[in-house]
Amino acid sequence: MINRGNQDWHFMPAPWINLDGETPVSNAFNDIYYSPEDGISESEHVFIEGSRLAERIAALSPGETLTVAELGVGTGLNCLLTAQVWLQHRPPQTQLRYIAIDAFPIREPMLKALNARWTSLTELAETLITRWPPPLPGCHRRNEVFKGFSVDFWWEEAASALGDLASHGRRWIDIWYLDGFSPKTNADMWSDKVFGPMQTLSRDGALIASFTASGDIRRRLEKAGFSITKRPGFGRKRECIAGQLGEVMQSKPPTTPWDIATPVTTSPQQIAIIGAGIAGAQVARQLAERGCRVRVFDAARIATGASCQSQGITYTRVSHKFGKLPDFAGLSFVHAVDTYQQLMDQGELEADKQVQLNGYLQLVKGSDQQANFEAVLSDPQGHATLLSGAEATEKAGVEIGRSAIFFPTGGWLDLPELCQTLLKHKNITVIENTGALTLRSSIGQSWLLVDSEERIIAQESQVVLATAHDTDKQVDLDWLPLQPIRGQTSLIDVSNKTDDIAVPICHEGYIAPARGGQHCIGASYHPNNDNREVSQADHAHNIDQLQRALGQLFDETGITITGGSAAIRCATADYLPIIGFAPIRDRFRETFAPLAQDRKKIVDAQAPAHPGLWLCCGFGSRGLSATPIAASLLVSQMFDEPPPLPRYLQQAVSPARFLQRVLVKGNRS
Ligand SMILES: Cc1cc2nc3c(=O)[nH]c(=O)nc-3n(C[C@H](O)[C@H](O)[C@H](O)COP(=O)(O)OP(=O)(O)OC[C@H]3O[C@@H](n4cnc5c(N)ncnc54)[C@H](O)[C@@H]3O)c2cc1C
Repeated sequence: MINRGNQDWHFMPAPWINLDGETPVSNAFNDIYYSPEDGISESEHVFIEGSRLAERIAALSPGETLTVAELGVGTGLNCLLTAQVWLQHRPPQTQLRYIAIDAFPIREPMLKALNARWTSLTELAETLITRWPPPLPGCHRRNEVFKGFSVDFWWEEAASALGDLASHGRRWIDIWYLDGFSPKTNADMWSDKVFGPMQTLSRDGALIASFTASGDIRRRLEKAGFSITKRPGFGRKRECIAGQLGEVMQSKPPTTPWDIATPVTTSPQQIAIIGAGIAGAQVARQLAERGCRVRVFDAARIATGASCQSQGITYTRVSHKFGKLPDFAGLSFVHAVDTYQQLMDQGELEADKQVQLNGYLQLVKGSDQQANFEAVLSDPQGHATLLSGAEATEKAGVEIGRSAIFFPTGGWLDLPELCQTLLKHKNITVIENTGALTLRSSIGQSWLLVDSEERIIAQESQVVLATAHDTDKQVDLDWLPLQPIRGQTSLIDVSNKTDDIAVPICHEGYIAPARGGQHCIGASYHPNNDNREVSQADHAHNIDQLQRALGQLFDETGITITGGSAAIRCATADYLPIIGFAPIRDRFRETFAPLAQDRKKIVDAQAPAHPGLWLCCGFGSRGLSATPIAASLLVSQMFDEPPPLPRYLQQAVSPARFLQRVLVKGNRS
């Protein structure tokens, strides 16, 4: 499993590539990325034909997913060729998930240059490159890169990524492309640390294809359960290999799987979501796109809880150390802005009217922060760059006078408009003004949604609670440590000094670019306060914060407030959201009781969960950036598919973490 401990944060290193004619060569591994004779023909021969891809695709039945994993995605050539075959042979209502692993992700400018030569793949390459993630370590899910074709980019060492995926104990992979650099110079990629997890992750009959024909590699793969055959190689290479998984041994979990529930036997077809804020809307949309019929219920109307903000910022955070909080914030931000960009590109969200993703600025506080960020934000292709005061001023459009971090793909969105957009789908029905609903379990493993007058509003076997700080009022969930945090935004008139603000500027609070002649500024923060009245004191607080951070933009006549809104955020004790199955508290305690004596003991049991009950709440101040990945994670658990996050982050957001912590608390063994 990936365990970053307290290491210094870093982007994944860029490869050092030399060109030999038109062929890219890795300097570190002293090996070519593809054949100098004909890269496309080589890849088609070794990987596409070697894995019998077209045949496997054609054999898919409606509702099935084919999962292909490539070790060493390099320039993306195999991914593009796989997509090409997929688009030709895809049976209706099937999906392909491509897991693309690389420890040295090529940066976008180089990627563009290298792919420019494949004229037969131009369109596909352009699409893939626009979705190519920045080099943050971890997993980056890209849904629908091509029709029915999604990509999980894992910017990790192969052994780490596969060990992490294999730790779930699920068998997900149908086809393996082993395309690392030569075993002679890149031994780690061809080691048992890779082949062991490959065996654990492989479905029955999983196929394998590789350019290598090394006897040592063949023997190791055979030891890992694959029967390997030699095939004619491409060009000057005499042989390459293909193979198929034989018998699989059951493996023991590397850690207690308290964050994993018993696998679902059937994928959900129909589901109820309570809560029509941004959390409920994101989950509804992802399920609807998977063909589920979704009913979304809300006590009031769409986006009338915390998701009522008319200009929310796609907040994230940067740290000089790895940690659950910054790592989740970074990966979720990158995923969110990709999701919102897709909605814009598809014409579902209107640029400038409902959304602006031209970047946002976070002012740097003090010299320590400056030094820390200088150390980590040195990659121009990263999701964030450190700007000097002058550079920040240029991006902001107004005088900033301080250095700032710039997040070029971030910006602001209108949350109610976003919720409406997400919920506009043929498979989604929204039922508003139900009043507060309560869940009751009923015979036959289904849930009743009951209103305050004890009327049954709906009955469903799968329910998602996206009910923010009201979630702990439901069945057996009073142990969730949720905290209401009141917040208020204020609207101020545009002045000639602020009119040019081009991107949101965040300090302790924030100011967004003008919209309809007004700036939205915010936001106050009052823990354990659930009062939704707009208050003058909070307006004064917002103005004070703004003047202290950006006083140069305002003259002595002061700032005039023209409006504002107050709402309640829902935070957790550890500031991470709550995403996943709802554990059954008493049975969870019994099952994992041995952890109270020895926290390192491996209890080989899966977490007892309320059947069909899922939680998605606790987004604090980052609903915009955290909810798309939350929905992806939840949907992957519902469909028993690979997760879009490393396991330590799945654990960090699991509802069960609070029960697990109580069990191991105080035990230092
Ligand atoms: C002042 C302020 C400024 C903010 N600024 C930003 C920002 O700039 N960027 C950002 O990312 N985030 C921001 N946030 C946070 C963001 O708004 C939240 O993280 C996000 O809206 C949470 O969404 P949600 O769907 O979980 O909750 P909500 O939007 O609160 O939705 C929960 C829904 O569940 C319904 N519900 C609850 N209980 C029941 C029940 N029993 N039966 C039926 N329905 C029920 C409610 O009616 C509500 O509609 C801000 C929050 C505030 C208050």
